[in-house]
Amino acid sequence: MQRPASPGPGPSRTMGGVSDDVLLTRHAERGAAASAEAAKGLPAPPSLHTLIVTCMDARIDPVALFGIEPGEAHVLRNAGGIVTDDVVRSVTISQRELGTRTVYVVQHKGCGMGTFTDPEFVAKLQEECGATPDWAPGAFSDAFESVRQGVARLVDSPFTLPEMRVKGFVLDLETFALEPA
Ligand SMILES: [Zn+2]
Repeated sequence: MQRPASPGPGPSRTMGGVSDDVLLTRHAERGAAASAEAAKGLPAPPSLHTLIVTCMDARIDPVALFGIEPGEAHVLRNAGGIVTDDVVRSVTISQRELGTRTVYVVQHKGCGMGTFTDPEFVAKLQEECGATPDWAPGAFSDAFESVRQGVARLVDSPFTLPEMRVKGFVLDLETFALEPA
């Protein structure tokens, strides 16, 4: 898909007036050193043999939510925390190459993916971009149902391991309690 001419990504590109450089500054000042220290000597396979799929919502911190330490778990995030083809791809590699066995699918109440429908979003893209995506936006109105669909998708995949344990949850963004889906 050809993208219309637009300013390319670069050091001076800003979104909403906040420069990327804030993060690069934090990285240089403390992030790189802290990360190197935390990951020192750790093997790549997650020690808790667990993978978490969740939404990209900036209020969710999966590390804090589950008390994850470096080296313990894989975390996959996308808009909604839905089980897409690419999530199946990553889960398959996580299980077959890096030894994970448990998957948590965690979506949340009040997700932005419930504020539009796929046809509406595709129409908007067609209007604004002059192109139709070859992927589904994946909007949903019921997070519990969406989690159950995601869990079923993983279970039904021929590529995930039969001994995999999959649990689905919906997160409340006020209490951060997990409700089984
Ligand atoms: Zn969300």
